[in-house]
Amino acid sequence: MNKPLASIGLDADNFWSYKRTHGDADWVERPSYLPVLTERMITSFSKHQIKPSVFVVGADAAAADGPDFVQALTEYGCEIGSHSYEHEPWLHLYSPQELRDELKRTEDALQAAGAPKPRGFRAPGFAMSPDLMRALVELDYDYDCSVLATWIGPVARQYYLRTNKTLTKSEREDRKALFGSLWDAGLPNKPFTWKAPCCEVDGRTLPAVQLTEVPVTVFPMARVPIHASYVIYLSGYSVPVAKAYIKAALAFCKATGTQPSLLLHPLDLLDGSDAPGLEFFPGMNMPLGKKQEMLDFILEAFAKQYRLVNLAEHAESIKGIPVRERGIDVLARGREVNPAQPKN
Ligand SMILES: [Zn+2]
Repeated sequence: MNKPLASIGLDADNFWSYKRTHGDADWVERPSYLPVLTERMITSFSKHQIKPSVFVVGADAAAADGPDFVQALTEYGCEIGSHSYEHEPWLHLYSPQELRDELKRTEDALQAAGAPKPRGFRAPGFAMSPDLMRALVELDYDYDCSVLATWIGPVARQYYLRTNKTLTKSEREDRKALFGSLWDAGLPNKPFTWKAPCCEVDGRTLPAVQLTEVPVTVFPMARVPIHASYVIYLSGYSVPVAKAYIKAALAFCKATGTQPSLLLHPLDLLDGSDAPGLEFFPGMNMPLGKKQEMLDFILEAFAKQYRLVNLAEHAESIKGIPVRERGIDVLARGREVNPAQPKN
């Protein structure tokens, strides 16, 4: 009965946001798969008796099908977190004021759609900056969960930029830090606290930062991703290898005392017929049944070892226990963030 806890969060990236990151011009029509996704999520969550956090994009909450999505998940018992308003993976380029506006706008949209004020935030494309952490503190967030402490982000970006021939020069500029920096691999894999002293910038006093971070767990030591999309993609080559991979990851989590946070994506529950045109995305050529079987295996493996909770409860659980601390300035390394940084 006394299992340690692990958390589950789903980033509700919509059809249009994948198209936008990919540089497809028709993203502006904002195609959405939220109605079918709502049903798939609730079916899968009920089957496993889990109530994950769902990080919703503000523009989706404000769209015609947004309130139904937000309300169905809220009524089911999911925590609704903020996943920014526009889902721009170059959020690290935003100024402090732009960040505050983006966060506030998202909160307003989520609340108008029927959710309580979000307590947690996950950055699109793991695009963090020191200013982002300050903005989250200023707007009274309980936790951030945007860290993916892997070295694979820059490798994935190189692959993405090399295989994408349609991006313009300025689109390439925006995507220069897509999927994170190599420095991120040096961040903790277990929950920790972001810290920064109070300081003055341009005559404005910025508050001190103390903010709980619940990273998306990566394979301990090897620092490679273990989120569902990667494991499902791997299962397209070999189901036994994918199963062995997740079992090994959980064994390493246990051995290192890591209480993991598992990341899910809509595409784990959708196939090519639900989102035509996303064939470029890994795993989108797999039939839905195969993906679901693998996702079931992952969720059962987690449930065997852990009591599965949402991110807010995971963040709450580390309050009062000693955890590592990291200065927010580390986020300015390896990615060109908005240049107006405090000098301290
Ligand atoms: Zn996202």
